[in-house]
Amino acid sequence: MATPNDLIVARPEGLYCPAGHFYIDPWRPVERAVITHGHSDHARRGHGHYLAHTLSAGTLRQRLGADIALQTLDYGQAIEHHGVRLSLHPAGHVLGSAQVRLEHGGRVWVASGDYKTEADGTCAPFEPVRCDTFITESTFGLPIYRWPVQSVLFGDINGWWQRNASEGRASVLLAYAFGKAQRILSGVDPGIGPIVVHGAVEPLNAVYREAGIHLPATHRVTQLDKAALQRALVIAPPSAQGTPWMKRFGADAVDAFASGWMQVRGTRRRRGVDRGFVMSDHADWPGLMSAIDGTGAQHIRVTHGSVPVLVRHLSERGLDAQAFETEYGHEDAADLGAWAAEGVESENRPQRGQFLPDLPPHSPAMGQKDGEKWTAAGGLQPTTLLPPRLPA
Ligand SMILES: [Zn+2]
Ligand SMILES: [Zn+2]
Repeated sequence: MATPNDLIVARPEGLYCPAGHFYIDPWRPVERAVITHGHSDHARRGHGHYLAHTLSAGTLRQRLGADIALQTLDYGQAIEHHGVRLSLHPAGHVLGSAQVRLEHGGRVWVASGDYKTEADGTCAPFEPVRCDTFITESTFGLPIYRWPVQSVLFGDINGWWQRNASEGRASVLLAYAFGKAQRILSGVDPGIGPIVVHGAVEPLNAVYREAGIHLPATHRVTQLDKAALQRALVIAPPSAQGTPWMKRFGADAVDAFASGWMQVRGTRRRRGVDRGFVMSDHADWPGLMSAIDGTGAQHIRVTHGSVPVLVRHLSERGLDAQAFETEYGHEDAADLGAWAAEGVESENRPQRGQFLPDLPPHSPAMGQKDGEKWTAAGGLQPTTLLPPRLPA
Protein backbone atom coordinates (compact mmCIF):
# COMPACT_ATOMS: atom_id res chain seq x y z
CA MET A 1 0.00 0.00 0.00
CA ALA A 2 1.21 3.50 -0.81
CA THR A 3 1.69 5.77 2.18
CA PRO A 4 1.78 9.58 2.10
CA ASN A 5 5.54 9.40 2.59
CA ASP A 6 6.18 7.42 -0.58
CA LEU A 7 8.49 9.27 -2.96
CA ILE A 8 7.12 7.30 -5.92
CA VAL A 9 3.65 5.86 -6.34
CA ALA A 10 2.02 3.91 -9.18
CA ARG A 11 -0.63 5.95 -11.00
CA PRO A 12 -2.66 5.07 -14.09
CA GLU A 13 -0.33 7.33 -16.12
CA GLY A 14 2.87 5.83 -14.76
CA LEU A 15 5.25 5.92 -11.81
CA TYR A 16 4.69 9.31 -10.16
CA CYS A 17 6.67 11.40 -7.68
CA PRO A 18 4.00 13.38 -5.75
CA ALA A 19 6.52 15.71 -4.09
CA GLY A 20 8.16 16.64 -7.39
CA HIS A 21 5.05 16.51 -9.63
CA PHE A 22 6.75 14.43 -12.30
CA TYR A 23 6.59 10.92 -13.70
CA ILE A 24 9.23 8.31 -14.47
CA ASP A 25 8.78 6.47 -17.82
CA PRO A 26 5.02 7.20 -17.92
CA TRP A 27 2.96 5.26 -20.47
CA ARG A 28 0.36 8.00 -20.90
CA PRO A 29 1.18 11.57 -21.89
CA VAL A 30 2.03 13.77 -18.90
CA GLU A 31 3.49 17.23 -18.38
CA ARG A 32 6.88 16.12 -17.04
CA ALA A 33 8.56 12.79 -17.68
CA VAL A 34 11.94 11.51 -16.56
CA ILE A 35 12.96 8.84 -19.09
CA THR A 36 15.29 6.04 -18.00
CA HIS A 37 16.14 4.95 -21.57
CA GLY A 38 15.01 5.04 -25.18
CA HIS A 39 13.25 1.65 -25.52
CA SER A 40 9.72 2.22 -26.73
CA ASP A 41 7.95 0.83 -23.66
CA HIS A 42 9.75 3.38 -21.45
CA ALA A 43 10.06 6.38 -23.79
CA ARG A 44 6.66 7.32 -25.16
CA ARG A 45 5.42 10.13 -27.29
CA GLY A 46 3.35 13.08 -26.16
CA HIS A 47 4.91 14.28 -22.90
CA GLY A 48 5.25 18.04 -22.30
CA HIS A 49 8.84 17.96 -21.00
CA TYR A 50 11.41 15.19 -21.07
CA LEU A 51 14.42 14.74 -18.81
CA ALA A 52 16.93 12.00 -19.67
CA HIS A 53 20.62 11.17 -19.80
CA THR A 54 22.77 13.07 -22.28
CA LEU A 55 23.44 9.90 -24.28
CA SER A 56 19.72 9.15 -24.56
CA ALA A 57 19.16 12.35 -26.53
CA GLY A 58 20.08 10.72 -29.86
CA THR A 59 17.67 7.82 -29.59
CA LEU A 60 14.88 9.87 -28.02
CA ARG A 61 14.98 12.52 -30.75
CA GLN A 62 15.21 9.87 -33.44
CA ARG A 63 12.24 7.94 -32.10
CA LEU A 64 10.02 10.65 -30.59
CA GLY A 65 10.83 13.59 -32.83
CA ALA A 66 13.64 16.13 -33.07
CA ASP A 67 11.40 18.80 -31.54
CA ILE A 68 10.61 17.21 -28.15
CA ALA A 69 11.28 19.48 -25.14
CA LEU A 70 14.25 17.59 -23.76
CA GLN A 71 16.66 18.47 -20.99
CA THR A 72 19.59 16.15 -20.34
CA LEU A 73 21.83 15.29 -17.40
CA ASP A 74 25.13 13.46 -17.13
CA TYR A 75 25.53 10.58 -14.69
CA GLY A 76 25.85 11.89 -11.14
CA GLN A 77 24.78 15.41 -12.05
CA ALA A 78 21.94 16.55 -9.77
CA ILE A 79 19.04 18.93 -10.21
CA GLU A 80 16.35 19.96 -7.80
CA HIS A 81 12.72 20.03 -8.88
CA HIS A 82 10.07 21.18 -6.36
CA GLY A 83 12.55 20.37 -3.60
CA VAL A 84 13.23 16.84 -4.85
CA ARG A 85 16.88 16.20 -5.62
CA LEU A 86 17.14 14.11 -8.76
CA SER A 87 20.17 12.47 -10.36
CA LEU A 88 20.81 9.75 -12.94
CA HIS A 89 23.15 6.77 -12.52
CA PRO A 90 24.28 4.09 -14.99
CA ALA A 91 21.90 1.16 -15.46
CA GLY A 92 24.12 -0.87 -17.85
CA HIS A 93 21.12 -1.67 -20.09
CA VAL A 94 21.61 0.31 -23.35
CA LEU A 95 23.36 3.52 -24.37
CA GLY A 96 22.23 6.34 -22.05
CA SER A 97 20.19 4.08 -19.75
CA ALA A 98 19.88 5.46 -16.26
CA GLN A 99 18.60 4.70 -12.81
CA VAL A 100 16.76 7.65 -11.31
CA ARG A 101 17.77 8.58 -7.77
CA LEU A 102 15.34 10.80 -5.85
CA GLU A 103 16.04 12.37 -2.48
CA HIS A 104 13.45 14.27 -0.48
CA GLY A 105 12.80 14.77 3.24
CA GLY A 106 15.64 12.45 4.20
CA ARG A 107 14.39 9.58 2.04
CA VAL A 108 16.16 8.12 -0.99
CA TRP A 109 14.38 6.13 -3.69
CA VAL A 110 15.94 4.68 -6.82
CA ALA A 111 13.88 3.71 -9.88
CA SER A 112 16.09 1.53 -12.03
CA GLY A 113 14.05 1.27 -15.24
CA ASP A 114 15.64 -1.71 -17.01
CA TYR A 115 19.13 -2.76 -15.98
CA LYS A 116 21.87 -5.31 -16.52
CA THR A 117 24.70 -5.93 -14.07
CA GLU A 118 27.34 -7.37 -16.44
CA ALA A 119 29.37 -4.69 -18.26
CA ASP A 120 29.30 -5.05 -22.06
CA GLY A 121 31.48 -2.25 -23.42
CA THR A 122 28.67 -0.46 -25.29
CA CYS A 123 27.27 1.54 -22.36
CA ALA A 124 28.30 2.71 -18.90
CA PRO A 125 28.26 -0.31 -16.55
CA PHE A 126 25.58 -0.62 -13.85
CA GLU A 127 26.39 1.10 -10.58
CA PRO A 128 24.63 0.15 -7.35
CA VAL A 129 23.18 3.24 -5.67
CA ARG A 130 22.42 3.12 -1.94
CA CYS A 131 18.78 3.85 -1.16
CA ASP A 132 15.90 3.14 1.23
CA THR A 133 13.56 1.96 -1.52
CA PHE A 134 14.62 0.35 -4.79
CA ILE A 135 12.28 -0.12 -7.73
CA THR A 136 13.46 -3.11 -9.73
CA GLU A 137 12.28 -4.76 -12.91
CA SER A 138 11.85 -8.54 -12.93
CA THR A 139 11.89 -9.40 -16.65
CA PHE A 140 14.03 -12.49 -15.99
CA GLY A 141 13.11 -12.87 -12.32
CA LEU A 142 13.20 -16.65 -12.16
CA PRO A 143 16.13 -18.68 -10.80
CA ILE A 144 16.42 -20.56 -14.13
CA TYR A 145 17.74 -17.43 -15.89
CA ARG A 146 21.55 -17.37 -15.75
CA TRP A 147 23.41 -15.79 -18.62
CA PRO A 148 26.65 -17.21 -20.03
CA VAL A 149 29.62 -14.89 -19.51
CA GLN A 150 30.25 -12.69 -22.52
CA SER A 151 33.46 -14.40 -23.64
CA VAL A 152 31.57 -17.72 -23.90
CA LEU A 153 28.59 -16.10 -25.63
CA PHE A 154 30.75 -14.41 -28.28
CA GLY A 155 32.87 -17.53 -28.69
CA ASP A 156 29.65 -19.35 -29.61
CA ILE A 157 28.43 -16.63 -31.98
CA ASN A 158 31.81 -16.35 -33.73
CA GLY A 159 32.08 -20.15 -34.05
CA TRP A 160 28.60 -20.35 -35.58
CA TRP A 161 29.32 -17.53 -38.04
CA GLN A 162 32.72 -19.00 -38.99
CA ARG A 163 31.21 -22.42 -39.66
CA ASN A 164 28.39 -20.99 -41.80
CA ALA A 165 30.80 -18.75 -43.72
CA SER A 166 33.08 -21.68 -44.50
CA GLU A 167 30.04 -23.50 -45.94
CA GLY A 168 29.10 -20.45 -48.02
CA ARG A 169 25.92 -19.64 -46.06
CA ALA A 170 24.90 -16.26 -44.70
CA SER A 171 24.42 -16.10 -40.91
CA VAL A 172 21.27 -14.17 -40.05
CA LEU A 173 21.15 -13.12 -36.41
CA LEU A 174 17.86 -11.64 -35.22
CA ALA A 175 18.29 -9.19 -32.37
CA TYR A 176 16.54 -6.10 -31.13
CA ALA A 177 17.71 -3.03 -33.11
CA PHE A 178 18.52 -0.77 -30.16
CA GLY A 179 21.09 -2.14 -27.73
CA LYS A 180 21.40 -5.79 -28.57
CA ALA A 181 22.40 -5.25 -32.21
CA GLN A 182 25.21 -2.89 -31.15
CA ARG A 183 26.36 -5.29 -28.44
CA ILE A 184 26.65 -8.04 -31.04
CA LEU A 185 28.56 -5.74 -33.39
CA SER A 186 30.89 -4.76 -30.60
CA GLY A 187 31.53 -8.36 -29.52
CA VAL A 188 31.90 -10.36 -32.77
CA ASP A 189 35.13 -10.93 -34.69
CA PRO A 190 34.86 -8.78 -37.84
CA GLY A 191 37.76 -10.76 -39.35
CA ILE A 192 35.39 -13.63 -40.13
CA GLY A 193 33.54 -11.80 -42.91
CA PRO A 194 31.51 -8.73 -43.84
CA ILE A 195 28.68 -7.54 -41.59
CA VAL A 196 25.32 -6.54 -43.07
CA VAL A 197 22.74 -4.65 -41.01
CA HIS A 198 19.04 -4.11 -41.61
CA GLY A 199 17.81 -0.57 -42.26
CA ALA A 200 16.25 -0.45 -38.77
CA VAL A 201 19.64 -1.07 -37.15
CA GLU A 202 21.98 1.36 -38.93
CA PRO A 203 20.50 4.64 -37.57
CA LEU A 204 21.07 3.32 -34.04
CA ASN A 205 24.63 2.32 -34.94
CA ALA A 206 25.14 5.94 -35.94
CA VAL A 207 23.96 7.12 -32.51
CA TYR A 208 26.38 4.73 -30.78
CA ARG A 209 29.29 5.75 -33.01
CA GLU A 210 28.53 9.40 -32.35
CA ALA A 211 28.72 8.64 -28.63
CA GLY A 212 32.24 7.27 -29.14
CA ILE A 213 31.36 3.56 -29.00
CA HIS A 214 33.53 1.66 -31.45
CA LEU A 215 31.60 -0.61 -33.79
CA PRO A 216 33.08 -2.51 -36.76
CA ALA A 217 32.26 -1.48 -40.32
CA THR A 218 28.70 -2.33 -41.36
CA HIS A 219 27.17 -2.61 -44.83
CA ARG A 220 23.75 -2.30 -46.35
CA VAL A 221 22.67 -5.41 -48.24
CA THR A 222 22.85 -3.60 -51.60
CA GLN A 223 26.53 -2.79 -51.09
CA LEU A 224 27.73 -6.41 -51.26
CA ASP A 225 27.87 -8.95 -54.08
CA LYS A 226 26.54 -12.49 -53.83
CA ALA A 227 29.86 -14.06 -52.83
CA ALA A 228 30.30 -11.57 -50.00
CA LEU A 229 26.74 -12.12 -48.77
CA GLN A 230 27.45 -15.86 -48.48
CA ARG A 231 30.10 -15.14 -45.84
CA ALA A 232 28.23 -12.34 -44.14
CA LEU A 233 26.85 -11.93 -40.66
CA VAL A 234 23.44 -10.29 -41.05
CA ILE A 235 21.97 -8.43 -38.09
CA ALA A 236 18.25 -7.72 -38.33
CA PRO A 237 15.41 -7.01 -35.90
CA PRO A 238 13.04 -9.90 -35.08
CA SER A 239 10.31 -8.19 -37.11
CA ALA A 240 12.36 -8.78 -40.28
CA GLN A 241 11.91 -12.54 -39.95
CA GLY A 242 10.02 -13.90 -42.94
CA THR A 243 10.03 -10.61 -44.88
CA PRO A 244 11.14 -10.32 -48.55
CA TRP A 245 14.31 -8.52 -47.35
CA MET A 246 15.54 -11.87 -45.98
CA LYS A 247 15.25 -13.58 -49.38
CA ARG A 248 18.39 -11.77 -50.58
CA PHE A 249 20.53 -14.06 -48.44
CA GLY A 250 19.43 -17.21 -50.23
CA ALA A 251 17.46 -20.27 -49.23
CA ASP A 252 20.42 -21.86 -47.44
CA ALA A 253 21.04 -18.92 -45.08
CA VAL A 254 21.12 -19.98 -41.44
CA ASP A 255 19.19 -18.00 -38.86
CA ALA A 256 19.53 -17.50 -35.12
CA PHE A 257 17.90 -15.43 -32.43
CA ALA A 258 19.65 -13.54 -29.62
CA SER A 259 17.51 -13.13 -26.51
CA GLY A 260 17.36 -14.06 -22.84
CA TRP A 261 14.26 -16.07 -23.67
CA MET A 262 16.45 -18.44 -25.73
CA GLN A 263 17.38 -20.09 -22.43
CA VAL A 264 13.99 -21.81 -22.65
CA ARG A 265 13.87 -24.41 -25.41
CA GLY A 266 10.16 -23.87 -26.12
CA THR A 267 10.77 -20.24 -27.09
CA ARG A 268 13.50 -21.24 -29.50
CA ARG A 269 11.13 -23.67 -31.17
CA ARG A 270 8.30 -21.14 -31.33
CA ARG A 271 10.55 -18.59 -33.00
CA GLY A 272 11.37 -21.20 -35.63
CA VAL A 273 15.09 -20.43 -35.89
CA ASP A 274 18.03 -22.79 -36.34
CA ARG A 275 19.89 -21.54 -33.30
CA GLY A 276 19.31 -19.51 -30.13
CA PHE A 277 21.92 -17.43 -28.34
CA VAL A 278 21.18 -16.60 -24.72
CA MET A 279 21.84 -12.87 -24.64
CA SER A 280 19.93 -10.22 -22.78
CA ASP A 281 20.23 -6.58 -21.85
CA HIS A 282 18.43 -7.36 -18.58
CA ALA A 283 19.85 -8.77 -15.38
CA ASP A 284 19.61 -12.54 -14.92
CA TRP A 285 18.51 -13.97 -11.55
CA PRO A 286 21.93 -13.67 -9.85
CA GLY A 287 22.24 -10.17 -11.35
CA LEU A 288 18.89 -9.10 -9.88
CA MET A 289 19.95 -10.44 -6.47
CA SER A 290 23.32 -8.69 -6.49
CA ALA A 291 21.78 -5.42 -7.69
CA ILE A 292 19.13 -5.48 -4.98
CA ASP A 293 21.69 -6.35 -2.30
CA GLY A 294 24.02 -3.62 -3.58
CA THR A 295 21.46 -0.91 -2.89
CA GLY A 296 21.12 -1.82 0.80
CA ALA A 297 17.40 -1.05 0.39
CA GLN A 298 14.96 -2.57 2.88
CA HIS A 299 11.96 -1.74 0.68
CA ILE A 300 11.69 -3.14 -2.84
CA ARG A 301 9.01 -2.39 -5.42
CA VAL A 302 8.91 -4.90 -8.26
CA THR A 303 7.79 -3.98 -11.79
CA HIS A 304 7.34 -5.84 -15.09
CA GLY A 305 8.26 -9.49 -15.40
CA SER A 306 8.06 -12.28 -12.84
CA VAL A 307 6.58 -9.97 -10.20
CA PRO A 308 4.95 -12.50 -7.79
CA VAL A 309 7.99 -14.79 -7.77
CA LEU A 310 10.44 -12.00 -7.01
CA VAL A 311 8.14 -10.39 -4.41
CA ARG A 312 7.76 -13.71 -2.61
CA HIS A 313 11.47 -14.49 -2.74
CA LEU A 314 12.46 -11.08 -1.37
CA SER A 315 9.76 -11.21 1.32
CA GLU A 316 11.10 -14.56 2.45
CA ARG A 317 14.49 -12.88 2.80
CA GLY A 318 12.93 -10.39 5.21
CA LEU A 319 12.66 -7.41 2.86
CA ASP A 320 9.53 -5.32 2.45
CA ALA A 321 8.75 -6.27 -1.16
CA GLN A 322 5.65 -5.17 -3.06
CA ALA A 323 4.41 -5.17 -6.63
CA PHE A 324 4.11 -2.04 -8.76
CA GLU A 325 1.64 -2.28 -11.62
CA THR A 326 3.26 -0.91 -14.82
CA GLU A 327 2.87 -1.17 -18.57
CA TYR A 328 6.52 -1.88 -19.36
CA GLY A 329 7.91 -4.98 -20.99
CA HIS A 330 6.48 -4.87 -24.50
CA GLU A 331 9.91 -4.80 -26.07
CA ASP A 332 10.99 -7.89 -24.21
CA ALA A 333 7.71 -9.60 -25.02
CA ALA A 334 8.31 -8.77 -28.69
CA ASP A 335 11.18 -11.25 -28.54
CA LEU A 336 8.66 -13.88 -27.59
CA GLY A 337 6.65 -13.12 -30.68
CA ALA A 338 3.67 -11.89 -28.64
CA TRP A 339 3.87 -8.43 -30.16
CA ALA A 340 5.52 -7.46 -33.42
CA ALA A 341 8.15 -4.85 -32.68
CA GLU A 342 6.37 -2.45 -35.05
CA GLY A 343 3.13 -2.86 -33.16
CA VAL A 344 4.72 -1.31 -30.12
CA GLU A 345 6.67 1.28 -32.07
CA SER A 346 3.78 2.62 -34.07
CA GLU A 347 1.38 3.10 -31.18
CA ASN A 348 -0.97 5.89 -32.01
CA ARG A 349 -0.03 9.12 -30.45
CA PRO A 350 -2.87 10.07 -28.11
CA GLN A 351 -4.26 13.59 -28.36
CA ARG A 352 -2.27 16.08 -26.36
CA GLY A 353 -4.04 16.79 -23.11
CA GLN A 354 -6.21 13.72 -23.35
CA PHE A 355 -4.60 12.02 -20.40
CA LEU A 356 -3.02 14.99 -18.71
CA PRO A 357 -2.89 14.28 -15.01
CA ASP A 358 -4.60 16.44 -12.54
CA LEU A 359 -1.59 18.18 -11.05
CA PRO A 360 -1.59 20.77 -8.33
CA PRO A 361 -0.40 24.11 -9.75
CA HIS A 362 3.34 24.60 -9.64
CA SER A 363 4.45 26.63 -6.68
CA PRO A 364 5.37 30.14 -7.87
CA ALA A 365 8.44 29.94 -5.67
CA MET A 366 9.87 27.36 -8.06
CA GLY A 367 9.57 29.78 -10.97
CA GLN A 368 8.31 26.94 -13.14
CA LYS A 369 6.03 27.80 -15.99
CA ASP A 370 5.11 25.74 -18.96
CA GLY A 371 7.94 25.77 -21.41
CA GLU A 372 10.56 26.49 -18.81
CA LYS A 373 13.39 24.18 -18.01
CA TRP A 374 13.59 21.65 -15.26
CA THR A 375 15.21 23.44 -12.34
CA ALA A 376 18.96 23.03 -12.22
CA ALA A 377 20.33 23.58 -8.75
CA GLY A 378 23.32 22.93 -6.58
CA GLY A 379 25.71 24.20 -9.25
CA LEU A 380 25.44 20.86 -11.05
CA GLN A 381 27.26 19.08 -8.27
CA PRO A 382 27.79 15.37 -8.69
CA THR A 383 25.66 13.45 -6.20
CA THR A 384 27.73 11.78 -3.53
CA LEU A 385 27.17 8.05 -3.62
CA LEU A 386 27.59 5.84 -0.63
CA PRO A 387 29.86 2.87 -1.23
CA PRO A 388 27.99 -0.29 -2.12
CA ARG A 389 27.41 -2.66 0.77
CA LEU A 390 30.14 -5.27 1.08
CA PRO A 391 28.99 -8.84 0.55
CA ALA A 392 28.37 -10.60 3.83
ZN1 LIG B 1 14.68 -1.50 -22.04
ZN1 LIG C 1 11.53 -2.48 -20.04
